[in-house]
Amino acid sequence: MTDIAGIIKYLSEYDGEPVRIMEVCGSHTAAISKSGIPDMISDNIKLISGPGCPVCVTPIAYVDRLIELSKEPDTVIVTFGDMLRIPGSSGTLSLAKGEGARVEMVYGPMDTIPLAKAEPDVTFIFAAVGFETTTPAYALLIDRIIRDNIKNIRLLTAIKTMPPAIEAMCEKGANVDAFLAPGHVSVVSGCKVYRPIAEKYSIPFGVAGFSPEELLLAIYGIVSHRGQGVVENYYPSVVTENGNERAKELIRKYFKPADATWRGMGNIKGSGLLLREEYAWLDAGSDGLCLDDKKYPACRCDEVLTGKCAPTQCPLFGSVCDPVHPKGACMVSEEGSCHSYYLNRRK
Ligand code: SF4
Repeated sequence: MTDIAGIIKYLSEYDGEPVRIMEVCGSHTAAISKSGIPDMISDNIKLISGPGCPVCVTPIAYVDRLIELSKEPDTVIVTFGDMLRIPGSSGTLSLAKGEGARVEMVYGPMDTIPLAKAEPDVTFIFAAVGFETTTPAYALLIDRIIRDNIKNIRLLTAIKTMPPAIEAMCEKGANVDAFLAPGHVSVVSGCKVYRPIAEKYSIPFGVAGFSPEELLLAIYGIVSHRGQGVVENYYPSVVTENGNERAKELIRKYFKPADATWRGMGNIKGSGLLLREEYAWLDAGSDGLCLDDKKYPACRCDEVLTGKCAPTQCPLFGSVCDPVHPKGACMVSEEGSCHSYYLNRRK
């Protein structure tokens, strides 16, 4: 079945075995919430959000370290806008900035170059968070630092890779029947990274795009393959079996696999990337930084990120926690589950 009306009819009337589909990617959560898809499909198909928002899975200990560094003399933290608002143990980077710390918001890693060149006696530390998608941009920044012999840029990394986290959820018996595989990550990694997990746990993966039609097609495909260890590519315009070899080569050039701590999921073996030894001089102290995962009392971000509870089940949702006054990371970014549910009144 390929016509969209037929797919919507099938999904809305579906009365087979219940299917719980985890939308791994934060952009999928945002797109699904905006599209109204959850209200269009049968109650037997549950869409639950997962750990695919880079801001949300960044542990509080990492935010605390950024805040500490921002208060050191002759030091500037350079970061994306969302990171400014993630609550640490006692405040945010935005608050630290208000108190006099130097924090610069940028739109891309390369924006650090002119800042660093303008003040050669100051150390600029880039908060390098994200997944396979963002890492090639960090690699290009390093290329440029080396080419221009820039001495005053460092990276504090909390980079994560998705397949080990998905496998860890499966291993711990996640209550999930299928995965909507992340579209952006898959552009870099390719579909093949999901095949061993799909086969081992007999669980279908559908790599999806972001338009309502692409999402509905992927959900339909996943529901049809319930219980089968298959990987289907519903985003062939940009995702291939092997992914982007050039981007992967760039990542391998500067980074090596390492263990990483995910908010709500703890330390997951091989689920992160650290700078290789030969580039350790660029590191602002990332190794072993995030082993201690803390959270705001009563915040259920950890359970939201692993599909154990919906954002609306958190007692703070919409009362003391909202996008203007976020208490947990999931309410900060547009890709965060709580933020997305709040703005789109998703049930
Ligand atoms: Fe955390 Fe707020 Fe979401 Fe509750 S509603 S889980 S406090 S981010």
